[in-house]
Amino acid sequence: MPKLDLRRLILLLSMSATSLVLAYFLYASYQMQRELLIKQTLEANRIYAVKLAEVTENFLNTAHKQLAYSASVIGPRLNTAEHLNGEVDRLLLQTNTFNSVYVVNTESKLLARAPRNHQAEDSLIDNPGSYSALASQQPSIVQAYSAPHGRLIVAMTHPLHTAQGDYLGYIGGAIYLQENNSLHDLLGEHYYRDGSYLYVVHDRQLIYHNKQERVGEIIHGNPAIHEVSQGREGNQLLTNSEGIEMLAGFAPVQSTGWGIVAQRPLQATLTELNKLMLNMLITLVPFFLAVMLAIWWLSRIISQPLWSLAKSVQKDDARIAENAVRQIKPWYFEVAQLKQSILSGLEMLNHRIGKLNLDSMTDPLTELLNRRGAQAAIDKWHVSAQPFAVILLDIDHFKQVNDAHGHDIGDLTLQFLARQMRRLSGNENVLCRSGGEEFMVLMPDTDLKEAGEFAENLRATLASTRSPAGEPITLSLGVAHYPISNARIEMVLRSADQALYQAKRQGRNKVVIAAAQRS
Ligand code: GH3
Ligand code: MG
Ligand code: MG
Repeated sequence: MPKLDLRRLILLLSMSATSLVLAYFLYASYQMQRELLIKQTLEANRIYAVKLAEVTENFLNTAHKQLAYSASVIGPRLNTAEHLNGEVDRLLLQTNTFNSVYVVNTESKLLARAPRNHQAEDSLIDNPGSYSALASQQPSIVQAYSAPHGRLIVAMTHPLHTAQGDYLGYIGGAIYLQENNSLHDLLGEHYYRDGSYLYVVHDRQLIYHNKQERVGEIIHGNPAIHEVSQGREGNQLLTNSEGIEMLAGFAPVQSTGWGIVAQRPLQATLTELNKLMLNMLITLVPFFLAVMLAIWWLSRIISQPLWSLAKSVQKDDARIAENAVRQIKPWYFEVAQLKQSILSGLEMLNHRIGKLNLDSMTDPLTELLNRRGAQAAIDKWHVSAQPFAVILLDIDHFKQVNDAHGHDIGDLTLQFLARQMRRLSGNENVLCRSGGEEFMVLMPDTDLKEAGEFAENLRATLASTRSPAGEPITLSLGVAHYPISNARIEMVLRSADQALYQAKRQGRNKVVIAAAQRS
């Protein structure tokens, strides 16, 4: 399996890190916003419940004042039916406070009622509320009870007195909790659209609810109702009777012991948050993509020099690798350092290889090229069809030098000949010891005449120069030319060899030039 490269690693790392950070950011801001929204909604509902409790309190006070005023208008004239009926009608009709208004004497007998109904005047008002109002002779509020016609009623009373202060009975006003009246309007103005609603409890009994059919129900196990029934205001996350999570705020109406609970579904509150988060995501996506693009681009820039280094050292040829590494422009520390080390490693390697190559092509005694070195030059010229002259030369009677002076002097003599060849030869010539006491000179772009002159010069020089053996050595030389002597490059050396052989036969210390090839 191919290994992951640095770029992919950088991409993988930074993209996953960025994605994780983004995901965590979204998650964290969702959680924070959620908590904040819940807190704010709870608090708003609490404030709303408190405000509504205050308004209800004021409403009940005003209702009491209306009853008190009517009580003063009626005064002691309980026997004047016209007067009584006029006043209860006025109170009923002038405001929308009460659903019914009535006057009751000390025997709990009904003296007047608005609106009129089947209940005959002088009938007995036989309920505990009425009796307790008569007993206390004080303004009272009779809590929700089911009157004979099955309605939930909150009744308020105010005592009637003579001018001397004798108690005569009371005037009462009834508010039917399920019917149209000012209190109902007041509570009904709540905003219901997103599932928010409001209800009023007394002693755990629903006395107002936006679902009329629930009024009168007794509620158990609702923590908000429990709290508000204890006279405390506050707020709470709770699950309603339908299993829906609600953010509830509650406050008591102190004078009646009622509790007002305003609540909003948690889901409705969070819907806004979901929209917000979606918007945030939509805003973030282009930015996120831009960051990804930047990462992609940067990863390229960061990994490029290392990648080039890695690719360069993969090359088989150490010299090509060295050149490739040299091209790389490092822009940060690690790559600069690596480039240096790789370069010095490659330089050393190339130097060694060069030296080994040279050693394998060089004759150690004379430091001229050996046969392989000469062959390499010929091979090169073969490819480029380079014309050249070749001179083969052999020391005459060298055996005798060895025999007379010893092998070491023989070696010195060979080195002496090499020095002379170098001295007389131009730089472009290839000088070679082809074996024993045989040498070769390859001369590019040189014709037979020129080569012959060089050979003659070499011969003459050696024949007149003292060698380490004490006297001059003589040479026999054969000269040939490619392609004049032979069009086949491998045959040219043979022509030169034949010329050399001829020189030996013709008495040595002689140059023989190979005949031009006959075509
Ligand atoms: P000719 O004129 O026919 O070439 O006679 P020659 O004696 O030069 O030729 P021959 O082939 O009979 O002898 C060559 C001698 O060269 C034999 C060998 O001892 C000597 N020789 C070859 N290589 C070396 C070397 O590296 N060092 C020394 N000192 N002598 C060498
Ligand atoms: Mg020989
Ligand atoms: Mg010889």
